[in-house]
Amino acid sequence: MTDLPTSSDVVVVGGGVIGMFIAFSLAEAGMKPLLLEARAFGGAVTGGSLAAIGTHMHGREEFDILAYARGRWRAFSDASQDRIEYNACGKMGFILNDAELAAGKSLVAQEKSQGARSELLTPEQARLHEPLLKGPILAATFDPDTATVNPFLAVRALMKAARKAGAQLRENTPVARVLSDAGLVTGVQTASGHCISAPHVVLACGPWTAKLAANFDINLSIVPRQAQCLASIRQPLGTLHKVISSCEAEGGVDSGYTQIQQCPSGQILFNTVTAPIPTPEGAEDRVGEVPPGFVADSVETLLKLFPALKSLPILRSWVRFEGVTPDARFLAGPLPTAGLFVCAGDNGSGFCRAPLLAQFIADGITGAGTLPDAMRRDTERLYNPFRFSEGHTA
Ligand SMILES: Cc1cc2nc3c(=O)[nH]c(=O)nc-3n(C[C@H](O)[C@H](O)[C@H](O)COP(=O)(O)OP(=O)(O)OC[C@H]3O[C@@H](n4cnc5c(N)ncnc54)[C@H](O)[C@@H]3O)c2cc1C
Repeated sequence: MTDLPTSSDVVVVGGGVIGMFIAFSLAEAGMKPLLLEARAFGGAVTGGSLAAIGTHMHGREEFDILAYARGRWRAFSDASQDRIEYNACGKMGFILNDAELAAGKSLVAQEKSQGARSELLTPEQARLHEPLLKGPILAATFDPDTATVNPFLAVRALMKAARKAGAQLRENTPVARVLSDAGLVTGVQTASGHCISAPHVVLACGPWTAKLAANFDINLSIVPRQAQCLASIRQPLGTLHKVISSCEAEGGVDSGYTQIQQCPSGQILFNTVTAPIPTPEGAEDRVGEVPPGFVADSVETLLKLFPALKSLPILRSWVRFEGVTPDARFLAGPLPTAGLFVCAGDNGSGFCRAPLLAQFIADGITGAGTLPDAMRRDTERLYNPFRFSEGHTA
């Protein structure tokens, strides 16, 4: 016996922030989506996230899209009766050498020209924002409008809002196959063999999305990458003030040091990311540790900048898989099998984009045009799932 329905308007596969926002947007648009999550809602990379939201250091092309998405998070937070700890704390990117300085200057100039309040700070100005930042920096980039949310509270609020708007959500329900007939999607089959008919299916399975698409000989360019987060026991609020990252221009994710911030509960979170590594079949069931030497190198960089954090007691650490694409952007849009859509490939910043992408996918399914035309065109172009294919022209 199962309480699963036998049909639905649209099945969303994956209950991370992306799938959840898509289910919410579809329900808001008047559809009755069914979201199926293999394990626990928000339990994969979504629940392990630092969930910073903003435009800073993401480049010119995505600036308007991210500004729009940040506005939608803000609106969701304001409209939600549930607290999601939306905290417009700002973001700082530290600069350690001349190459980063040149890149930081050009980044700030570009963002300013697009309407951001970004600035280049001297080391003294940076320390006024972050008094514990003692290490040698040449300068810092700064954006006062970057925000953070609490990923668990955000997913819970989205679940509640989606259900209220008419979505059905089921966890512990892995989808084994997407079903089709004569080039049209007809539904999904769960791992327990239950079939649900649906004219639309959205694959929002994070790093594992390519698996379900492969049944259709669709090759999606997305691979898993490990990210590790260390969390301290609670510290006095105000120990850190901003989201602090390495300047993406040089090093960035490759340098291993990606982000540190204090959350409203007082915990300090520190995030490192490895390059994509080969992941064996079933890796999602047994996430391994990031190589300890790698984490040690990242911590060393952190302690050079913030020596006062040397004795910070670590409460726990977790590792998650993120989905990575060759140009660090999502794959979002329709696939060649009519009725099949993809939205995955977070590259470590999927929280930022979730509301925009959800609206884009919901528009694609309902045919409504709720996104401004220019933004829809940019989204289609930047996140085209086949932009890496031979013969594709932008
Ligand atoms: C330490 C860390 C820090 C981060 N910091 C930031 C940040 O500051 N800002 C930011 O924007 N982003 C950040 N990110 C990235 C962000 O968390 C992700 O981009 C986002 O959570 C991706 O969401 P998702 O829904 O695509 O993926 P997931 O959360 O992985 O969700 C996919 C879901 O699909 C399910 N699934 C898979 N296969 C199936 C199947 N066959 N059937 C049913 N369900 C299936 C999985 O169980 C999973 O729950 C960070 C990530 C980490 C790890």
